[in-house]
Amino acid sequence: MNVNQHTPMASPYGQPQPGYGQPGYAPLDGGYPAPYAPYNGPASSYQPGAQPQGPVRGPPTSAPPPVSAPQPYNQYSHSQGDMQNGPPPMTQAPPRSAVSQPYNQGAVNLSGPHPSYPQHYGAPPSVQQVTNQMTGMQITSGPPTPAGPGYGKCGWVYTWFSPSLSYFCFTSGSFGQVRGPQPGYAGPYPGQPNYGAPAPALAPPTQKRLDPDAIPSPIQVIEDDKAKSTEPFTTGVRGQAPPLVTTNFQVKDQGTYVSHAVMFIRCTAYNMPCTADMAKQSQVPLAAVIKPLATLPPDETPPYLVDHGEGGPIRCNRCKAYMCPYMQFIEGGRRFQCGFCSCVTEVPPHYFQHLDHTGKRVDCYDRPELSLGSYEFLATVDYCKNNKLPQPPAFIFLIDVSYNAVKSGMVSIVCQELKTLLDCLPRENPEMDSVVRVGFVTYNKVLHFYNVKSSLAQPQMLVVSDVSDMFVPLLDGFLVNVNESRLVIESLLDQIPEMFADTRETETVFGPVIQAGLEALKAADCAGKLFVFHTSLPIAEAPGKLKNREDKKLIGTDKEKSLFQPQVSFYNTLAKECVAQGCCVDLFLFPNQYVDLATLAVVPVATGGSIYKYTYFQAQSDQERFLNDLRRDVQKPVGFDAVMRVRTSTGIRATDFFGSFFMSNTTDVELAGLDCDKAITVEFKHDDKLSEETGALMQCAVLYTSCSGQRRLRIHNMAVNCCSQLADLYRNCETDTIINFFSKYAFRGVLNNPTKTVRDTLINQCAQILACYRKNCASPSSAGQLILPECMKLLPVYLNCVLKSDVLLPGADVSLDDRSYLRQLISCMDVTETHVFFYPRLLPLIKLESGSLPVAVRDSEERLSKGGVYLLETGLHLFLWVGASVQQELLLNIFGTASFSQIDPSMTSLPVLDNPFSQRLREIIASFRAERSRYMKLMVVKQEDRAELIFKHFLVEDKSVSGGASYVDFLCHMHKEIRQLLS
Ligand SMILES: [Zn+2]
Repeated sequence: MNVNQHTPMASPYGQPQPGYGQPGYAPLDGGYPAPYAPYNGPASSYQPGAQPQGPVRGPPTSAPPPVSAPQPYNQYSHSQGDMQNGPPPMTQAPPRSAVSQPYNQGAVNLSGPHPSYPQHYGAPPSVQQVTNQMTGMQITSGPPTPAGPGYGKCGWVYTWFSPSLSYFCFTSGSFGQVRGPQPGYAGPYPGQPNYGAPAPALAPPTQKRLDPDAIPSPIQVIEDDKAKSTEPFTTGVRGQAPPLVTTNFQVKDQGTYVSHAVMFIRCTAYNMPCTADMAKQSQVPLAAVIKPLATLPPDETPPYLVDHGEGGPIRCNRCKAYMCPYMQFIEGGRRFQCGFCSCVTEVPPHYFQHLDHTGKRVDCYDRPELSLGSYEFLATVDYCKNNKLPQPPAFIFLIDVSYNAVKSGMVSIVCQELKTLLDCLPRENPEMDSVVRVGFVTYNKVLHFYNVKSSLAQPQMLVVSDVSDMFVPLLDGFLVNVNESRLVIESLLDQIPEMFADTRETETVFGPVIQAGLEALKAADCAGKLFVFHTSLPIAEAPGKLKNREDKKLIGTDKEKSLFQPQVSFYNTLAKECVAQGCCVDLFLFPNQYVDLATLAVVPVATGGSIYKYTYFQAQSDQERFLNDLRRDVQKPVGFDAVMRVRTSTGIRATDFFGSFFMSNTTDVELAGLDCDKAITVEFKHDDKLSEETGALMQCAVLYTSCSGQRRLRIHNMAVNCCSQLADLYRNCETDTIINFFSKYAFRGVLNNPTKTVRDTLINQCAQILACYRKNCASPSSAGQLILPECMKLLPVYLNCVLKSDVLLPGADVSLDDRSYLRQLISCMDVTETHVFFYPRLLPLIKLESGSLPVAVRDSEERLSKGGVYLLETGLHLFLWVGASVQQELLLNIFGTASFSQIDPSMTSLPVLDNPFSQRLREIIASFRAERSRYMKLMVVKQEDRAELIFKHFLVEDKSVSGGASYVDFLCHMHKEIRQLLS
C-alpha cells in the first residue's frame, strides 16, 4: 500500500474527481481535484496544534490585526477594529451576574464597518488571521442569572458588556455539550461541569475568544430532548409539540387532536397566533411539512383502510372535509357539525350511530376515522379520472446507450441489475406478484423500442429515427407482465450491452425519450413511472435540444438566477402533459460534464419524481451507491395520479407549497407520482381570526392510485393551539421545521433573486423573529444582551448552515449542476433530512456499545481529537475521519492494521473484522444507510490528507472556504442585526 497514494476524490456532490481529464475516465494521477485545491491544498492550511484541540484555551498568541487589513473571509468578524470605548481588558473574568454588571450602552459596536458579503473566491484566511480576527472579543461563561420577573422563562440570555470583556449569562438550561471521554481532551472545560458555581475559575485570565461552549449547542439540545422523551408520545392533547426529529419516539395515537399524523406532519408552531397582525409581528413562518406516504417504523401500525361503501367517504357538505375526529355529532347522531367550517351535514342512514352520554358515537373507537389521526378511505369511481377505475400502473425503463453510457459501464450494470430487480416491483401484498407492467426503450440520437411479448422467442427492436414527433411504434408487446415475459426480457437485457458495445454515437436526445414513455402510458391508458438513465447534455437535433450555457462569471451577479431556470420552455409543456397522464419521471444522471440539470429536472420535479446524480460514474467505485439507489427507487411504495388538498379551520388557509409537484390552481397539489420519501412543505396565512377555544385544525387528504391500481384517499389530521400572547407562540415553535421551511423558501427564491438578496432576506426575517421575542416576551434588560427563545436558541446556528450552503454561497468547486441538484433534493426533504443535511451528525468512535450510539459532538474542527476516529453523516454523504495520532487499538479494531499510513483512503467499505468494535461500527454504518432515502457512499478521510478539505466542508460551525461565517461570528452578527431592529 502506498502511503502517498491519493484518494480518488468524490466531492460532496460527485464533483470532478482528481485528475479526471475531459474525456478520460480513469484518475490520471490521483491529484487533488481542481475544485478543492484552489488554495495550495489543505496541507498548507492545516497547522497541527494551531487550533485548540480541547476546551481549555490558551492565552492569545497574536498581536491585534492591522485594522486596515481586508478580511474578506470573515463576513461577520468582530475584529478589534470593531470594538471601541470599552473598559480596559480585565485580567480575571469576574463571576458576576448579568444584572449586576456595569453596562456601557453602545460600548460594543458589533457592526463596525458594514461587513461586505464575502468574496467567493478570495484567499482563505491563515490560521493566524483567523486568530487575529477573534482577539477582539473576550468571553467568559457566567453563572445562571436570576434576572428579574419573567425573565428567561423560556429564554436564553447572552450579554455582551464590552469589547474586551464579553459576558454570557444563562437563565435556563445548561450549555455546552456533554462530551464523552475523548482521547486528547484535557478534561472538563470551563463552565460545563458546574455552570451554576460562582467563579469560572478555569477560564484563563487572558482568554480572547468567544467560547463556543458558551453558546447554544445543538448536541446539548438534541440530547436533552432525548432524555426527556422516554415515554411514548400520546397524541390526545391539542397543540402539544412532539419530541424533536432527532429523538426516536413511539406514538400512541389518540387521534382527537395532534394524532398519529405527527409521524407524517411537522409544524413550525404548535401554537399559532390568533390574528394576522400577531403573525406578522412575530415573523414566525406558519408552515407544516407533510410526508403523506411516509414509511412508519416497523413497530407502528400502518394507517387503516376504511370503506364507506358505494357512497364513498362521508364528507362535510360545504368544505368537503373528510370524516374525522373533529366532526361533532349532534341531534342524537343524525347530523354532524364540521370542525373546519361549522357547516352541519346529514349523516347518511348507513352511517348512523347512537351517541353516548358524552355526545360521542358509541362506535367511536371501532372506527379509525373517528378516533385516529391518520387513516385511508377506499375511493369510489367518482374519485377516478374519467369516472373509470384505474388500470394498474406501468414502469418503463429508458436507457441511454450512447458512447459515454456504455463506456462507463452504466448500461451493462443497469441491464444486469434489472434481471433480478424486476422481481421486486412494488406490490400491496408480499405474497402476491406485482401487477405493475414493464417496458423497455434504449436511445442515443434515435429511440429503440422493444417488443417483449411472451409469445416471442426473441425480443424485437423497432427503431424510431424521426424524433421530431414521437410516437410508439408498437402497442401490443411493449408493456408486459414480468412473469409472463420473463425469458424474452432476460434475453433482451443480456443483448442490450452487447448490441451497443461498439457504439461511437456520442449525442443524445432527452425530450423525445420522455415523450416516448408518456405516449406509451397514454396508449395503455394507465399511470406509471419512467426510469431514465441519462448521461449528457441533449445536443442532438430534437425537441428539447439544449445548449451549454454554464457560465461561472454569472455567479454572484444579478443574472445568476437565470442559470437556475430552464433554458427552454419545452419541458414545462411536456411536464404538464405528464402530470395529466400520471406519468412520473425518475432521472438517473451519469454526467461527465455540464448537463444543465436545471432544465433536465423540470419534468422530474413537476411529476413528483426523483433525481439521482453520479458525476464521473465509475463502475468500481460508484456501482454500490447507484445499485442501492436504484433498488430502493424501484421497490419503494409509491402512489400515482395523486392530488393533495390541505383543508384548514376558518381563519387560516394554505397559501404556498414547496416540493416536487405541479399546480394548475391555487389549492390542488398534483403529483403524477408520490413516493414514501417525498415531503411537501405548506405555508399557512390568516384570512380571518382564529379562536383560542377551538384552535386551528388541518386535514391533509391525498387521493392516489396504489401500486395495485386501487384508488384511495389518505387522510392526516392535525390540530394546534391558538394564542393571543406572543410568548405562547415562542414557547411552542419547532426550529428544525422552521429551518426546513426557510431552506425551501430560500432555495426557491434563487430562481428570481440574486443569492445575496435571498441571504439578506433570511437574515432579516430571523432577526425580526428574535427581535420581536426580545421586545415582547423577555423582560427589560440591556441591549447588550442577546436573548433567544428557549426553543429557538438554535435558530442562528442552523440558519447560518442554510446561508452558507452550496446553493446560497457556493465554493469555487461547486458546479451549477450541483447547485441545481441540491435545490431539487432539499425541496422534497422532510424535517429529519434537512436537519441532518444542514447540521451533520458527527460521532466520536470511542466506546461502541450495542443498542446505543455514542453522543455526537459539534460540527467543528476543534471537537476532533487527533487520537480519535469520527463518523460524519449528512444523509447524502458518509465520512470516516481518522486522526493523525490515532490510537493503535482503534486502527487494529477498525482497519486491521496498526499503522495510520497503511490505511487505504480509497476504500468504500470497511474490512470485515472479527472483533466487537468492527462489528458494531459496521452495524452503525448499515443502520445510518437504512435510515436514509439515498445510499451514502463511505469515504475514509485521513487527517492532513487532501480529502480532508471535503470533509471540513461539513464542519458547519467553522468558517467555510467559500466565505461562510463561523457559528460564533454569525451569532455576533445576528445580535447586531437584532439590536439594530430594536434601536
Ligand atoms: Zn366543512
